[in-house]
Amino acid sequence: MKVITAVKRVVDYNVKVRVKADESGVDIGNVKMSMNPFDEIAVEAATRLKEAGKATEVIAVSCGLTQSQETLRTALAIGADRGVLVETDAELQPLAVAKLLKAVVEKEQPQLVILGKQAIDDDAGQTGQLLAALLDWPQATFASNIEINDGTATVTREVDGGLEVVSLRLPAIVTTDLRLNEPRYVTLPSIMKAKKKPIDVVKPSDFGIDPSPRLKTLKVVEPAVRKAGVMVPDVATLVEKLKTEAKVI
Ligand code: AMP
Repeated sequence: MKVITAVKRVVDYNVKVRVKADESGVDIGNVKMSMNPFDEIAVEAATRLKEAGKATEVIAVSCGLTQSQETLRTALAIGADRGVLVETDAELQPLAVAKLLKAVVEKEQPQLVILGKQAIDDDAGQTGQLLAALLDWPQATFASNIEINDGTATVTREVDGGLEVVSLRLPAIVTTDLRLNEPRYVTLPSIMKAKKKPIDVVKPSDFGIDPSPRLKTLKVVEPAVRKAGVMVPDVATLVEKLKTEAKVI
């Protein structure tokens, strides 16, 4: 069973991003970039399936700038066997990524595609669902457990108020939630080994796909600054303020 994992290069989750002065987006010049955390979980899940003898090959796919090769190298260091970079400097939105991933899936013919539930930069949470629709494959989103047996994936999903267990016939799409696993610490020997693993570079035009954006960002602004809090001397004052100022009781 071949498994594809989709990995996106995003601003590192520790970076506090700043909005550009012209409000056209956030400033990503000179900030640390990393693999989207949910995608690390996806690569870890695929690697564990390989280690358990359920998967034969794990292919990491990234769409974006040349620098996304670094993200693919991280995936290879976690345990993916090879990488595919769909290289473009176009601003990629979920529909374009889903079309590009569909083209790679049609070429590679995997039985399982694992994506993150959302990218922490655009917070769209759409790509896995769009890909499942384009391929007309079953999907299980927000997975906290994946089991593969006899051409079926049994996936536990985190839903409001509990867990839901669904059974999908392969080939299928799964998106990862935070509690699916804890990605391994990438060691130096695995980073060295990853340097020797192959990465194929293709272009959207190789698949006849136009990745240009369909949506236009009108403006991006900082959240309103919160007012400073005040200390109240006693409960009576607190209740009074909740009644007269906050008007919540
Ligand atoms: P989103 O729909 O943008 O929130 O992204 C959901 C998931 O789709 C991510 O966690 C990735 O697994 C995948 N994805 C989104 N954009 C890309 C990209 N440019 N390259 C590879 N995978 C991506």
